[in-house]
Amino acid sequence: MRLSTQIALSMIFAALFVGMVAGEAVRYFETSRLHRTLAERANLTISLLNGLMLEDIIIEDVPMIESSLREAVVRNPALAGISVSNERGAVIAQYPQEIDPRIKTSKFVQDVELEGEHFGQISVLWSLQEGESQIENSVAQARIYAVVALGFLTILFLLLVYKLVLFPLSIVHSRMSATLKGEPWSDLKLPRYASKEFLSLSASVTTLDNILIERTEREQALQLARKNADAASKSKSEFLANMSHEIRTPMNGVIGMAELMLETDLDRDQRLYTDTIAQSGTALLTIINDILDFSKIEAGKMTFENEPFSLHRALEDIVTLVAAKASQNNVEVSLRYEPGLASVFLGDAGRIRQVVTNIIGNAVKFTQDGQVIVNARGVVAGNKTELCISISDTGLGIPEENLRTIFQEFEQVDGAANRKFEGTGLGLAISTRLIRMMGGRIEVTSKVGEGSTFSIFLTLERSDYKLASVIDIEADLTGISVLVVDDLEINRVILSEQLRNWGATAITASSALKALDILEAAVANGPAFDLIIVDFQMPEIDGFELARRIRQNLNIAKVPMILLSSVEQTAEVKTRKEFGFSEVLMKPARSVVLKSAIATALNLENLDETKAKKPKAENEEDLLAKLSGLHLLVAEDNKTNQLVVKTMLKKAKIKLEMAGNGFIVCEKYTTFKPNVILMDMSMPEMDGLEATKKIRSIEAKNNMPRCPIIALTANAMKGDRELCLQAGMDDYLSKPIVKAKLVSNLLKWYRERGGSRLRT
Ligand code: ADP
Repeated sequence: MRLSTQIALSMIFAALFVGMVAGEAVRYFETSRLHRTLAERANLTISLLNGLMLEDIIIEDVPMIESSLREAVVRNPALAGISVSNERGAVIAQYPQEIDPRIKTSKFVQDVELEGEHFGQISVLWSLQEGESQIENSVAQARIYAVVALGFLTILFLLLVYKLVLFPLSIVHSRMSATLKGEPWSDLKLPRYASKEFLSLSASVTTLDNILIERTEREQALQLARKNADAASKSKSEFLANMSHEIRTPMNGVIGMAELMLETDLDRDQRLYTDTIAQSGTALLTIINDILDFSKIEAGKMTFENEPFSLHRALEDIVTLVAAKASQNNVEVSLRYEPGLASVFLGDAGRIRQVVTNIIGNAVKFTQDGQVIVNARGVVAGNKTELCISISDTGLGIPEENLRTIFQEFEQVDGAANRKFEGTGLGLAISTRLIRMMGGRIEVTSKVGEGSTFSIFLTLERSDYKLASVIDIEADLTGISVLVVDDLEINRVILSEQLRNWGATAITASSALKALDILEAAVANGPAFDLIIVDFQMPEIDGFELARRIRQNLNIAKVPMILLSSVEQTAEVKTRKEFGFSEVLMKPARSVVLKSAIATALNLENLDETKAKKPKAENEEDLLAKLSGLHLLVAEDNKTNQLVVKTMLKKAKIKLEMAGNGFIVCEKYTTFKPNVILMDMSMPEMDGLEATKKIRSIEAKNNMPRCPIIALTANAMKGDRELCLQAGMDDYLSKPIVKAKLVSNLLKWYRERGGSRLRT
C-alpha cells in the first residue's frame, strides 16, 4: 500500500474517532446544561405555585388546587404534570390525571412551608423532549465540524507529506536504483527545500555509487588481469612444450650417440667419459621431466588414468630396478607385500610408479649402509582398499625442522652450497601433489642418524581384471617345509609370509650356525626339511660356507637349496654347481620367480613348465634378427636423429629410407612401400600429423591396408598421444629414443601388420 493511502486511511479513521468523541463530549455538556436550566425553571414554577396555592393547600381546597394546576400546565407546555400532596404524603391533587409514559420527564419536588411549618409537597414533572432534541442537534453539528476540520487537515497533511517526504524519497530511490543498475543519474536532483535528512541520505547514495563504480572498475581490471594470466599460463605451457621439444631433440642425439659409442671398442678412459655423457644426459632428462611435471601440476593440466594394473608387480619392478644400484652401497632393498592383499587395482600405474620410485630412490640415495624396506599393506573397505605403502630406510634421517619443508619444491636438507647428493628438490613436491590429486597423502617420520619412513596412503578400487602380465605359477607348494636362513629379520618375515601364503611351512634361522642346529635337531627327531633358502651375505658364516657345511653333513646333504644374493657374480653357473644350489636368485626375488625356483628345486610333478620358467629375455640380437625384411620409412628432418635411428638398427637386415619432410614422406610412401613408418611430429613444410592424415586418406581412397605409423616426438606434454592417435597414427615413441624400446616397438608392428605391405 502506498504511503499516501496509508496516511489517508489513518486520517479517516482518526476523523471518525474524533467526530464521535467530540459528539459525546457535546452531548455531556449540553445534557448537564439542560438539567441545570430545567431545575431553575422548575424551581421558579414551583415557587410561584407555592405562593399562589399556599392557603388552598393548608386548607386542602382540592378544586381550587386542581384548577390552579390545570392553568399552570396549560400555560407552560414544557410541564408534563404537577401533583400536590399533604403533610402526610398523600396526593391531594394532580394534573393531568394520566401522564403519557412515553414522554421522558424530569421530576422536581419542593416542600410547602409557612413559618417553619410543613404542610405538604409540590412535585413537578418537566418534559425533556424539547431539550433532548436540541442536544441531538448540537451533537450532530459537533460531529460534522470535527470531520470536516480533520478532512481538511488530512488534505493539508498529505500535501505536506508528498512535498516534504514522498517526492524527495522518490528521487533518492530513483538514484539508488540507477546506482545499482550502473546507470547515470545526474539529472535526478533533490528539491532545494529538501530536509537535512534527505540531503544526507542522498549524499550516502553518492558515496555508495562511488564505491560501486570503483568496485566495477576493480573487477574489470581483475578480469583483464586473469585473462592476461591465463594467456600467460597458456604461453608458459606452450613454451615448456617447445622447450622440452628443443631440449629433447639434441639430448636424443647426445644420449643415443653415447649409447652407441658404448657398444664400440673403447679404452678405459673413453668408456668412462662416454658413460658420464650418457649418465649426465639421462640425469638432465629426468630434471626436464620433473620440471615439466611440476609445471603441468601448477597449470592444473595433470590428468590421471584409471586402468587396471598390478600393484604387486609394479612394486617388484621398482624394487628390482633400484636393488642392483643399492647393493653397490651395501644397502639391501626388501619388499613385503601383505599376504592376501589384492594385486590388481584401478589407477594410474605410471604416476603411482613415479611416486614410489622417487621415494624408494631417495631412500636408497640417502642410505649409506643398511636396509630399505618397502611394505605394502591394505584395509578392505567395500570394493576399495585403503592402501599404505611405507618405505623405511636406515639412512641419514631428516632433521625435525626439515620434515615439512622437504615436501616443498626445490627444498633439500643439505643446502645448495654443500651438496653431496644429486637432485632437484622437486621429487617429493611432485609426489605429494600427485598423490594428493589421486585423493591420498604422504606422511613422513624420521630420526637423524637412524632413518626415515615415508608412508603413502592411497585408496584404490580393486579390479577383477586378469592382467596378462601377472603370471601365476601353478605349482602346489602345500605341505612342504622350508628352512629360511637370513640374518635380516624383515627378510625372514617376508619369506616365511610368502611361503605360508603358498601353503608351505617355514622355520627361520637368523644365522648359519642356528640353521645348522635346527637342521641337526630335525634329523634327530624329524620332521626333515624339503628345502632350504639361504641368504648369501651374512656375518661370520656366509651362504657359501653354510652350503658347504650342509653338503658335508651326510644326513642333510641332499636337501635342495636356493641361494638369495644381491651380488651379481654369485648367480654364475659355476658357483651354483660348486655349492649344489638348485637356483641362485637375485634379491629381492619376485614372488613368481621364487615360486618357480622352489617348484624347480623340488621337481614338482604338477609344475607347468612353460609358465613356471622365468620367461627368457630375448637378447637384442635375436630381436634385431626378427626385423629382417622390414621396409622402414623414417620421417625425420634432424640429421643427428636420422643417424641415431640408422645406427641403432645397423645390425638388422632391413631396408631404411629417410624423409626430411611430410611431402617426401607421402611420396616415399607410394614408391618405397614401407611396412612401418616412424614419423617425427615436427618437420618443416608439412608436419607429421598432416602427413599422417594425408597417407590415411590415400589408403582410404585406394582401399589399401593400413600402414602402421609410429609417432616419434620430443613433445612430452599430455595430449600429444591423443593428437597422434587422432591424426591416424598407431603408436607413440618419445625422444630420446631408447634402442630396446625402438626395436620392440618396430617388431610389434612389423609382426602385427607387416605382412600387409602393399606391392602394387
Ligand atoms: P631430491 O631430488 O633432492 O631428492 P626430493 O624432493 O625428492 O628432492 O627430496 C627433498 C629432500 O628431502 C632431499 O634433498 C633430502 O634432503 C630429503 N630426503 C628425502 N628423502 C629422504 C630420505 N629417505 N632420507 C633422508 N633425507 C631425505
